[in-house]
Amino acid sequence: MENVIIIGTGCAGYTAAIYTARANLNPLMITGTQPGGQLTTTTEVENFPGFPDGVMGPDLMTRMQQQAEKFGTRVEWADVKGIERGEDGTFHLATEGGGFDARAVIVATGAAPRHLGLPNEKELIGHGLTSCATCDGAFYRDVPVCVIGGGDSACEEAGYLTRFASKVYLIHRRDELRASKIMADRALANPKIEPVWNSRVAEYLTDDKGEMRAVRVAGTDGGEDREIEVACVFVAIGHVPNSGFLGDLVETDENGYILQTPGRTATKTPGLFAAGDVADHYYRQAVTAAGQGCAAALEVERYLTDLEE
Ligand code: NAP
Repeated sequence: MENVIIIGTGCAGYTAAIYTARANLNPLMITGTQPGGQLTTTTEVENFPGFPDGVMGPDLMTRMQQQAEKFGTRVEWADVKGIERGEDGTFHLATEGGGFDARAVIVATGAAPRHLGLPNEKELIGHGLTSCATCDGAFYRDVPVCVIGGGDSACEEAGYLTRFASKVYLIHRRDELRASKIMADRALANPKIEPVWNSRVAEYLTDDKGEMRAVRVAGTDGGEDREIEVACVFVAIGHVPNSGFLGDLVETDENGYILQTPGRTATKTPGLFAAGDVADHYYRQAVTAAGQGCAAALEVERYLTDLEE
């Protein structure tokens, strides 16, 4: 029986691991399908305190992992499919290869990229449709590509893609970016980025090999449909929290974000805590996720002490 299992290895998970390991709780982490979390798919992080010259997302996660392991955190490569809480209040976590038992659980499973829901998108992923510029941008040299979205992610991805692509269309459903001013200004000043305002992608068009060839774009302001030739579409329209596997152990909002006790990381189930993007639709920053990981670790410590007493 583990004292605490942390599900997810992003900023929230690793911070929870550092704190619970230093509190001698000997935490076990379960990686999930994206070890290192969302920062492993970004490039330079300029706003994580302590790095005045910026730090590459994957490097930051490697450092967090080293720090967690230095204090004795164990990491298991598995994906939790479901959790049950027994009558004695302990948790059983089911994975494909078996299961784990714990007195307390921290859910730090983050969020997965959202897609538009167009009919052929499943088949196109990996064939000209992706949500990770860092992973796939270099495959598209000297060809036009597009980014869908108007937030910080879309601007960041678009900027990164200009290193490779001949042109980057930034397709946004409104005529104003949601991104922070610094990111928006930087994107709009880039001569290789062409904004396509008031437009939504209505169809992904493929060539005879099933690879992305173009997008059909419909005007959201009544404008006419048009085709834009692109070799790859990078979707950056936000995320969906990875909370589905928890069933009714947690309450969620209408978008699936776990509801915590106000001002805390506790959920409706005693012993089950949630931290980071799986519970936060508002801040969604690496540093706030790390802060919540710390808070969840402190709450677990107190919960386990109370159990013993
Ligand atoms: P976001 O801020 O939620 O922006 C999502 C964008 O996608 C919005 O522009 C939205 O349009 C658009 N969108 C949503 N659903 C759509 C749909 N069905 N069809 C077309 N467009 C759709 O998400 P994000 O950009 O991923 O950012 C998430 C968080 O991470 C934010 O807090 C952001 O500040 C942070 N972040 C920070 C950095 C950085 O500082 N380096 C980098 C990346 C992300 P509307 O604008 O019309 O709603």
